[in-house]
Amino acid sequence: MFIKRLPKFVNHGPKSLPEALDLLAKYGHTAKVYAGGTDLLVAMKKREILPEHLINLKGITELKGIHYDGIEGIRVGAAATLAEIEQSKVIEEKFCILWDAVHVMASPQVRTLGTIGGNLCSAVPSADTAPPLIAMGASLNLVGIHGERKVLAQDFFRGPKESVLQRNEILTQILIPNFPPRSSGVYLKLMRRNALDLAIVGVAAFLRLDPNKQICGEAKIALGAVAPTPIRAPLAEEILIRKEINEVLAGEAGKAASVVCHPISDMRSSLEYRCNMVEVLTKRAVLEAYRRIL
Ligand SMILES: Cc1cc2nc3c(=O)[nH]c(=O)nc-3n(C[C@H](O)[C@H](O)[C@H](O)COP(=O)(O)OP(=O)(O)OC[C@H]3O[C@@H](n4cnc5c(N)ncnc54)[C@H](O)[C@@H]3O)c2cc1C
Repeated sequence: MFIKRLPKFVNHGPKSLPEALDLLAKYGHTAKVYAGGTDLLVAMKKREILPEHLINLKGITELKGIHYDGIEGIRVGAAATLAEIEQSKVIEEKFCILWDAVHVMASPQVRTLGTIGGNLCSAVPSADTAPPLIAMGASLNLVGIHGERKVLAQDFFRGPKESVLQRNEILTQILIPNFPPRSSGVYLKLMRRNALDLAIVGVAAFLRLDPNKQICGEAKIALGAVAPTPIRAPLAEEILIRKEINEVLAGEAGKAASVVCHPISDMRSSLEYRCNMVEVLTKRAVLEAYRRIL
């Protein structure tokens, strides 16, 4: 494929959030914010999008860092890189579903540049950080010139490459609540090869067991790359709740998950294969989440 040069643009490097929001308001539809540029610059090279002004978010302190609080949970800055998340011991140990996802994304080079905020705001159905954040009940902080609002990760996506983010808003932080006792989860991703590939199917499972019992008290299953947006699988979740987790039950949940998905066939996989693999991966994810609790 012939790779074109980047089209001409003016680069802006704001040092604060208000400065970035002012630039967005000033240049309106001719401007785009970016962090790592691993999605945006590729789209610009393909001439899918031609902004005249680029606003670099990586110099803004409010968007940086990973802050853990034993009571509230963890706040991940939207401009935190995938590599920073992968290297975070707190995320690996306490928010393992997100760590599982980031660990299998792209390549070390892309993870060094790419950010969690960019992954979410690209809003592609296969975005790997989306199912884990949905399964963990995360919320996203969106800030515009008129104030800020919080949106649950599961309500953020509207369609392929579409989200509730307004043109004049910036995603600043991702808030993930602490896991309750006797809970854990996992993210499993199916790819055509073991690196540098988007998901054919991604499944995130979060389970909480009832206190002192082996019965499932809470279950959240989120699927990626099998619908126009990342989705929950409520039928699969209902099958698990108030039951003892075992192989048969996990298999039933897998079947129920494959019913809610409505993928497309594309160069990565056929629709039928994706649905079959949702069933297989959901069963595996439920059993692995359960194993991690015990
Ligand atoms: C070789 C390669 C492999 C890849 N593999 C994977 C993979 O395995 N899994 C996967 O999910 N993705 C993958 N990607 C896609 C990409 O790397 C990720 O989505 C990455 O996390 C994007 O982050 P970024 O900071 O580079 O986004 P950018 O390109 O900077 O921005 C992406 C979009 O989000 C907007 N945006 C960015 N930050 C904000 C913000 N804080 N507020 C509002 N809007 C914002 C931008 O305007 C733009 O529209 C891959 C890309 C490449 C090139």
